[in-house]
Amino acid sequence: MTTRPSPALLGVPIANLTLDEAVAHLTTWLDRPGFHRMAVVNAAIILIAERNAELRAALATADLVTADGMSVVWATRWLPCLGGKLVARVAAPDVMEGILTQCAQGGQRVYLLGATAEVVSQVRACLQRRFPNLVVAGAHDGYFTDEEAAAVAAAVRQARADVLFVAMGSPRQEVWLARHGPQTGTRLALGVGGYFDILAGRRRRAPRWMQACGLEWAFRLIQEPRRLWRRYLLGNIAFLLFLVREWRRVQGRITA
Ligand code: UDP
Repeated sequence: MTTRPSPALLGVPIANLTLDEAVAHLTTWLDRPGFHRMAVVNAAIILIAERNAELRAALATADLVTADGMSVVWATRWLPCLGGKLVARVAAPDVMEGILTQCAQGGQRVYLLGATAEVVSQVRACLQRRFPNLVVAGAHDGYFTDEEAAAVAAAVRQARADVLFVAMGSPRQEVWLARHGPQTGTRLALGVGGYFDILAGRRRRAPRWMQACGLEWAFRLIQEPRRLWRRYLLGNIAFLLFLVREWRRVQGRITA
């Protein structure tokens, strides 16, 4: 894939790729039989994974993991003991956009799973407008019970979709994909967090300059302060403390 050393957090290797390299790599999965899944990590997801063994396992067994947040990219640059300095942030929404373009050109069928029924149908309409050649094989909301989870996977299979985008937040989307992804019959699946809400026009994505400065979280916080203050303000401090713990863990392994 690339010869750049890949760092790891919580034992999960993070692919050291640019966005274009990641999309090119994922595109090769479309021609290969079998189910492949990609996941992303940012500070919030890493903090959940530190405590949630099922999310940790879902990340460790994903076929590709990239850094969705600048804080993860910076962490790999500050701490050489993590094993490699990431060259770029490869955020889930940007990967989804790249894959949508490929599917619109190549005729692969996509399935949209997640958010509310209203949002996901708005996303479907928006994608049909933006990519007239794109085949949206089906759409389903992300609010179903554990008992219904297998039936949702069967619905995706029945739609004969090649690519599955799952927007149910973390850890729900990663865990659902690890448990049920192989039964969907898709070849490529990717969790995209809150991106359906953005595509549906319910929320706005941070401008490029804020994304590049690592301030996407601040933009989201301004839009939804009540829901997100804990996640981001306490989360940023918690992530710094996590890095100290991770540094100690890795140092311990190196000197042991
Ligand atoms: N969601 C869902 N099912 C659930 C909980 C959440 O489909 O049981 C959706 C929710 O409607 C939203 C997305 O998951 O569209 C998660 O948004 P959030 O901002 O939490 O995700 P993030 O981008 O921060 O991972």
